[in-house]
Amino acid sequence: MTALQKLATGLAAGTIRVVDLTHTLDPDFPVIVLPPEFGQCARFRMEEVSAYDHRGPAWKWHNISMSEHTGTHFDAPSHWISGRDVPLGSVDEIPPERFVGSVCVIDCSDQAEADADFLLNPGHIAEWEATHGQIPPGAWVLMRTDWSKRSGAAYLNMHEEGPHSPGPAAEAIRFLVEQRDITGFGTETVGTDAGQGMHLSPPYPAHYILHGAGKYGLQCLANLSELPPTGAILMAAPLKIKNGTGSPLRVLAMVET
Ligand code: MN
Repeated sequence: MTALQKLATGLAAGTIRVVDLTHTLDPDFPVIVLPPEFGQCARFRMEEVSAYDHRGPAWKWHNISMSEHTGTHFDAPSHWISGRDVPLGSVDEIPPERFVGSVCVIDCSDQAEADADFLLNPGHIAEWEATHGQIPPGAWVLMRTDWSKRSGAAYLNMHEEGPHSPGPAAEAIRFLVEQRDITGFGTETVGTDAGQGMHLSPPYPAHYILHGAGKYGLQCLANLSELPPTGAILMAAPLKIKNGTGSPLRVLAMVET
């Protein structure tokens, strides 16, 4: 059998399962909140055009609007100033093979539960690799925190001085980009950076370093607790928005049962 025939057989037999890593797009789902002097990210909105009625007797449909960075979404290099001149840096330009790849899941759920400002550092990655092997080139690395199990105000976890949520230290992202040549980095929180990432050096290091190197981000992921540390295949294809800096998307993972 060819590799694709084996895959088809596994999917049909249920020995390969498809896990949905996506939150439902809903007007209530939180979006990132920036200091008030900056432009803001729009929540998801939906208006009914017709619903089998005088506006369209046999059909129902909606008009929708949102930010490129609403809900479970993809960040392209052009999202950040460090990536503005990266070739093929917009969602419509990224080669499609970059949207499918192997995935390594680093479980930080215990640390995130103990400390909302937990930062993943190179020591944690070294520990993970000692158990699971070296992160292969081209992998997606996902930081599991179980943050997706939070809802409402607990998700952004906003305090007077800003949001508190876990994320990567600059050194961890630099290691993944420079020493492991990952495709991208994903989180369960509202951004690829920690809530207090503006105070790191450089500010928002995941955005700055990933996108400056032509790498991608995924955020607001869900169900990372259903993925094995290695061995799953991720599919994350953003909408083909002309010059788009990101896009909501359906993120799926194929997992062997
Ligand atoms: Mn984003």
